[in-house]
Amino acid sequence: MIHLLTIVGARPQIIKAAAFTRAINSWNCSRLFQNEQITQTILHTGQHFDNNMSASFFAELDIPAPAIHLGVGGLPASEQVARMIMGIADELSRNKYDGVVLFGDTNSTLAGAIAAAQAHVPVFHIEAGLRSWNRTMPEEINRIVADSISSVLFTPTSQATQNLLAEGVPSKENAILPLPHVSDSSKDDATPHRPYSVQVGDVMYDNALHFSRMAEKRSHILEQLCLTDCPFVLATIHRPVNADNMAHLTSIIGALETIAKEQRVILPLHPRTKSHLSPQMLGQLTANDHILLIEPVSFLDMIMLEKHASLILTDSGGVQKEAFFYGKPCVILRKETEWTEIVHAGAAILAGADKLRIIEAYTLLKNKQVHPANLYGDGLASEHIVKEISRFFSSRS
Ligand code: UDP
Repeated sequence: MIHLLTIVGARPQIIKAAAFTRAINSWNCSRLFQNEQITQTILHTGQHFDNNMSASFFAELDIPAPAIHLGVGGLPASEQVARMIMGIADELSRNKYDGVVLFGDTNSTLAGAIAAAQAHVPVFHIEAGLRSWNRTMPEEINRIVADSISSVLFTPTSQATQNLLAEGVPSKENAILPLPHVSDSSKDDATPHRPYSVQVGDVMYDNALHFSRMAEKRSHILEQLCLTDCPFVLATIHRPVNADNMAHLTSIIGALETIAKEQRVILPLHPRTKSHLSPQMLGQLTANDHILLIEPVSFLDMIMLEKHASLILTDSGGVQKEAFFYGKPCVILRKETEWTEIVHAGAAILAGADKLRIIEAYTLLKNKQVHPANLYGDGLASEHIVKEISRFFSSRS
């Protein structure tokens, strides 16, 4: 029996946990009476805490409720990370876990990596190896630290695998396990293994395939927003690089106002962004009949908006890929991206927060046909991850 502690905290991690949970369930079902079962305990740091950013996703996406909730949302970043590390360390000292599973690049990822390393528990990092090469982004620091601590680094793309290789992390086929200089006397659970990467594909692509049809059946968002016969673009803004920067926010909103003269703009507003908008900006947006400011939507509703939008503007890592999965052109509201493949494929343009560049990118892409290509795996990334975690432990026993 392998017992994992899975750490979530922010919305995209909860969504990724859905794919991982499905894969664990199907692994266990196919090994009912064997000693290879995998159990997971979910720890929620509380980084995102609004119902529509967290709790509602567990029910909708069929994820077991977290067994531990640290409730550290709303604190300043450093205090939040410190409390997360303490809470996760406490759980790791109370109960025995064989491994800690982390997703992506948030403060919860960072805290989980540090707490697990201090407790000498192997770390499995899902969505490893991504680099934007911009170290002013907190997400970049979080992913670099998490990757440097992880035992197995599950990469979504060949670019991510290459990035790790350049940093000295070999892919599994080229790794020598365990470290050659370790003496026999130290052969116990803590025997160091050389960290290695395994390219498994993207768990969000698994989710796109799994939830797409379900969204068509269950979501009524298009009818609710009267969008069934009305062309629209979808926009999201939440990265600190934009949400915490008034000049960037003003410029992006200016671009959306221009685009809204041509077609409707749907903007599900992230709480971080909302908290930074001045009352004047909020008033101006609400008064614009062509911009629909809405609360964050459920994942199934978001899928429907993505599938039926004519184009997507976003600074989100997840949303820019989902645009590609659903064949939609995308204006990326950042100067760089970790998901370079979609830019190289001509499906997305990096426009940053510059109003004119955003409008120019929109004009270039608005009639573009995006042909989904097989860049993110075979839709079974989570299954490959679960299989590899099992192999990791069997190679140590
Ligand atoms: N998402 C959602 N509802 C929304 C906005 C986004 O369900 O109102 C989903 C989106 O489909 C994607 C994920 O949240 O799967 C992306 O999360 P976010 O943009 O917060 O973070 P990032 O991907 O940039 O880490």
